[in-house]
Amino acid sequence: MPLAIVQYVRIAIIFIATTGLTQAADYAGPLFDAHLHYNEEAWNGQVGPHPVSDVLVRIKRNGVKAVIANSRPNDGTKALAAEPSKGDLTVVPFIRLYRNRADYDNWFRDETIYDMVQTEFARGTAAGPYKGIGEFHLYDSTNANGVVAKKLMAFAEDKGLTILAHVDDVAIDLLMANTPSKGQKARLIWAHTGIGGAPVARVNELFSRYPLLMGELSYRPGLTCDGGKLCSEWRALLLKYPGRFLIGSDTWINQRWQYYDDTMQGYRTWLGDLPADVARKIAWENGAGVFEVK
Ligand SMILES: [Zn+2]
Repeated sequence: MPLAIVQYVRIAIIFIATTGLTQAADYAGPLFDAHLHYNEEAWNGQVGPHPVSDVLVRIKRNGVKAVIANSRPNDGTKALAAEPSKGDLTVVPFIRLYRNRADYDNWFRDETIYDMVQTEFARGTAAGPYKGIGEFHLYDSTNANGVVAKKLMAFAEDKGLTILAHVDDVAIDLLMANTPSKGQKARLIWAHTGIGGAPVARVNELFSRYPLLMGELSYRPGLTCDGGKLCSEWRALLLKYPGRFLIGSDTWINQRWQYYDDTMQGYRTWLGDLPADVARKIAWENGAGVFEVK
């Protein structure tokens, strides 16, 4: 072979090798959507842009095999749980605390919400008993000490229910302090792992303090960097706690249903950045394991 061609082949091999290293394949396995809402704006049982058949198509074409479903009011979750055509999709139902938008700012002190949770829990869904409470919000973390918030944290731990909470890092400590085990036996999924951007060191501190605390990663500031790949400090945290993170769609408005494909593709992109076993845990096994999805 002439020298020029040998050089060319060598350069081509180096090029293929290096680009192969920097462009890991997207994660292609099953997904567990740990933060799905099916609110009345999407479908109220009569009208809406996203009837059950529509959301099932979106969920299934993305390889999502299980969802934590919750809705305002709880009828949406019950409709999804009862849908015969959902096939092999597992619906893990959570009790939402909101009958309407006014409840967002008042649930933590409203005894009628506590009563509603008792009624829902006793009734269950067509897909089986409720497995959790949430998503709820605390815009002021001190409301974690509201009388109903305290009762619900105790109720959840007593019944083995998982909490899905959109709160700041201060509220995580306050909510955990309100459980009988002081957070040692309470399973809490931290929605967005702190949407306000709690520093990685603070997330790490809370994860080490509460053994059943998990982090859901939608809307998490600082998670991804160039090209939708993981930022280095977050990649390190995911590798430190591979069994503690989850992904979620957070379909809180209809636009999120319209972009459901893009949201899931975004996860597949950065999950592809991780070792295969860690990617599969965050994508699927962590949720499937907690909620015993086969
Ligand atoms: Zn949400």
